[in-house]
Amino acid sequence: MCSDKQIPNPFDSQRPLIIAGPCSAESAKQVMDTAMALKDIPGLFAFRAGLWKPRTRPGDFEGVGEKGLLWLTEAKRATGLKLAVEIATPAHAEACLAAGVDFLWIGARSVVNPFLVDDIARALSGSNIGVMVKNPVNPDIGLWSGAIERLMKKGISRLAAVHRGFNIYLSKPYRNAPLWEIPLEMMAIFRELPMLCDPSHIGGKREMLASISQKALDLGMDGLMVESHINPAKALTDPAQQVTPGELARLVGGLKTRKSGVTKGVASLEKYRTSIDELDEQLLELISRRLEVAGYIGELKKAHDLAPYQPERWARLLEDRMEKASTLRLDPDFVKKIFTLLHKESLGRQGEVIDH
Ligand code: PEP
Ligand code: MN
Repeated sequence: MCSDKQIPNPFDSQRPLIIAGPCSAESAKQVMDTAMALKDIPGLFAFRAGLWKPRTRPGDFEGVGEKGLLWLTEAKRATGLKLAVEIATPAHAEACLAAGVDFLWIGARSVVNPFLVDDIARALSGSNIGVMVKNPVNPDIGLWSGAIERLMKKGISRLAAVHRGFNIYLSKPYRNAPLWEIPLEMMAIFRELPMLCDPSHIGGKREMLASISQKALDLGMDGLMVESHINPAKALTDPAQQVTPGELARLVGGLKTRKSGVTKGVASLEKYRTSIDELDEQLLELISRRLEVAGYIGELKKAHDLAPYQPERWARLLEDRMEKASTLRLDPDFVKKIFTLLHKESLGRQGEVIDH
């Protein structure tokens, strides 16, 4: 692992540092109107916009491409805001360097590919541009820290990381589960690396932005990258998670900045509590899904005239779970109690009340 010491802070700005702008640049007017409305938000550091959009399905809006660079440079001239753009290929990198973009970021879908990160690093080497690296879509800290190291190896030293959450099976209620312990681990590995949080892609819904943003600041992150659109309802990408510049101003105004001097012990306690909170959210999600499936089973039993309580199935299930419990070093009696409760609740969903 490379040492963290050589990372100079590329963000010579007050904290929290805010980067905001639309998910995608859509037209010259949308870019200019959004930038003009954002420019007076206190602490606003840079204006972001996506020009090349990595979309899950073909045929979705894939961004306006290089012509958007002209709209962005006009917005920069009019507002004085620095520009931040996502790049996904060396050609994007070269176009942004030529247009005088101030910051680039490598998106979550690109960070998963080490060859691509190397190609981008090569295209940027020799420039002094600031580069932000989003976490990869999958929760792999090695890919994330590896991308930072690949850029450092090519002499790119103005770096920051962006936490945008992870695509995992149990991500609800988030669009991308925050798994806060991973960015906290990155902050421990690279102690000087600024860490921003992107609450828009974590939450996926604008109602969730304020609490995620506050949590990020409470955990010691340096700032936020937030999607803001002049008319979110009409946005061509990510409409549910974008906020108007006015809503963003209120969100930023409501943020409480973290007390300085948090001791190491308190920070670790906070880290473990955050993990517990996240695990409990996943447990609840699992229990809810289990009961939902029990409901479907109940309907099938009814359709086939079967009794909800099937003693043999229950005996086999319990035996299996207690055996698994001991391989996980869990007390089988404790696990028996949990499954007895779960079974009772499941049968309740199937219209049967039993006492084990
Ligand atoms: C974005 O910021 O618009 C974006 C596509 O982000 P991510 O790479 O985090 O999905
Ligand atoms: Mn987006």
